Amino acid sequence: MRLAKFLYKTNIHWGVVNDDNTINFLSRDPFEKILITKKNIPIRACKLLAPATASKIILVGLNYRDHARELKMAIPKEPLIFLKPSTSLIGPGEKIIYPPNVKRLDYEAELAFVIRKKAKDISSKDYRKYILGYTCLNDVTARDIQTKDTQWTRAKSFDTFCPAGPWLETEFNPNEAKINLYLNDDLRQNSSTENFIFSVAKVFSFISKIMTLLPGDIISTGTPPGVGFMKKGDKVTVSIDGIGDLTNYIR
Ligand code: MG
Repeated sequence: MRLAKFLYKTNIHWGVVNDDNTINFLSRDPFEKILITKKNIPIRACKLLAPATASKIILVGLNYRDHARELKMAIPKEPLIFLKPSTSLIGPGEKIIYPPNVKRLDYEAELAFVIRKKAKDISSKDYRKYILGYTCLNDVTARDIQTKDTQWTRAKSFDTFCPAGPWLETEFNPNEAKINLYLNDDLRQNSSTENFIFSVAKVFSFISKIMTLLPGDIISTGTPPGVGFMKKGDKVTVSIDGIGDLTNYIR
């Protein structure tokens, strides 16, 4: 099932995306229970939003074996995590604003997931019931600032630096999915989550032992090899087989 959050007329709703490119409204948000109504609109009549209500966005640093090889870095023994603020989140089709004074703006294609219910100290074998669904995320990074600052906060936190979408796929195997990034339709990243160093189950459990995860929070699982820079005017698409495409534009 594909769960979308969307703007229709002046209100924000959740819905289920159908194969005929229509959306059926849910009667309320999907975190406790998914209640599908008969109200149906064409998907083009609404604006898709980032499919989350994130109090926080937690991301994993190096998490692909092939990316570690590319960087000639050792395989980490535990996940390196960092945060982006909720104000960095944007939806599909929206503009990534290139900040003045940033010299190198990079894309990072990532598989992300959204928390369904409050989670603290959860073992990795119990992860499934805490995850609402999976989506595409672009961990936009001011690479020159990341290199210069010891902390990553500034480099990762500008407004619009966290595109996510286009929806949540609830039936999805996160451990063998093809993940690609296209810059102006040229393939730049091409890998599979089979190269994960830490599985979704391990990442989720690790983070839940640090902080309470709330419904709507986002966790992103790191990027594969092929990271590179973007310019104003570029179109950038994260594409994950079994989920869909997330396209944004640099302005
Ligand atoms: Mg990243």
